[in-house]
Amino acid sequence: MANCVVCGRRAVYIERSSGYAYCERHFLKLFSRRVRKTMRRYELFSEKEDIVIAVSGGKDSLSLLHFMSKLAKRVKGWRIRALLIDEGISGYRDVTKKDFIKFAEEWGIEYRIASFKEEVGLTLDEMVKKGRSIGLPYLPCTYCGVFRRYLLNKVAREMGATVLATAHNLDDVIQTYVMNVIVNNLDKLSRLGPKTGVVRHPKFVPKVKPFYEVLEKEVALYAVLNGIYPSFIECPYARLGVRWTIREMLNKLEERHPGIKYFTLRSLLRMISTIRGAEGAEGGPLTCKICGEPSAHEVCRACQLKIELGLIKP
Ligand code: SF4
Ligand code: ZN
Repeated sequence: MANCVVCGRRAVYIERSSGYAYCERHFLKLFSRRVRKTMRRYELFSEKEDIVIAVSGGKDSLSLLHFMSKLAKRVKGWRIRALLIDEGISGYRDVTKKDFIKFAEEWGIEYRIASFKEEVGLTLDEMVKKGRSIGLPYLPCTYCGVFRRYLLNKVAREMGATVLATAHNLDDVIQTYVMNVIVNNLDKLSRLGPKTGVVRHPKFVPKVKPFYEVLEKEVALYAVLNGIYPSFIECPYARLGVRWTIREMLNKLEERHPGIKYFTLRSLLRMISTIRGAEGAEGGPLTCKICGEPSAHEVCRACQLKIELGLIKP
């Protein structure tokens, strides 16, 4: 491994797009500077915030919780709490939930856990089984994404959050970008900005992504260097989704053409500003006529899925 470009010590990381190498200390400095720059550039937080962090118990969300808890010691007006959505994926979420609880207790972080079973009526495993038995065309990630987004907003609001922070990193964001372009979901692109909630709906909690400009592997290294070792475990449904293939494709592209992920992010940001310019604002300021939550349509996606699953009547 090369030597650190700043101090000459043994490097732990080489940034392939620039060719610069960094030792442990200077990598952590670089990481922190980059995340704080994202926060400033996109005005993710103000001085007084009740921040709820969406966690899964994996390395990304525990790293965000670690990063934000440390930063909050210097920002008097911040309160940090965590929210875990338990989808009910056996052999997976039960394991990561334990990792999260252990971390939160060690760090003295207040948290809340909300489950699909209690809030929606079925675990994700049960939904997938039922959906298959009645011939619904959805992949597990569809139910998961819709109900998780729904519950994160609803429960964070109930907790009194002024902002909900998620651990989406640059890789996550550009994967979703490519997926949405492929399936012609251009109207969903504005959700992929570093800060969403341009449309003010009284029940909508603004969402921010502090890790927006750092790579997945950089977050992984941040976790290791800070002694954050959650169980290395993969969701049993992950490989069924389109995201998996796109992830592999983007990793191969980056391998051959270092820096291409950053270019893709810039392309996304430009696309978002073009769409916002054309529409005036991001869509979705309606109220679901069934559940009263914010929605892009008369009936929100979560209620539509509940109807299809036979959990509620239309
Ligand atoms: Fe949910 Fe799909 Fe992620 Fe598994 S891989 S946690 S089903 S979104
Ligand atoms: Zn609804």
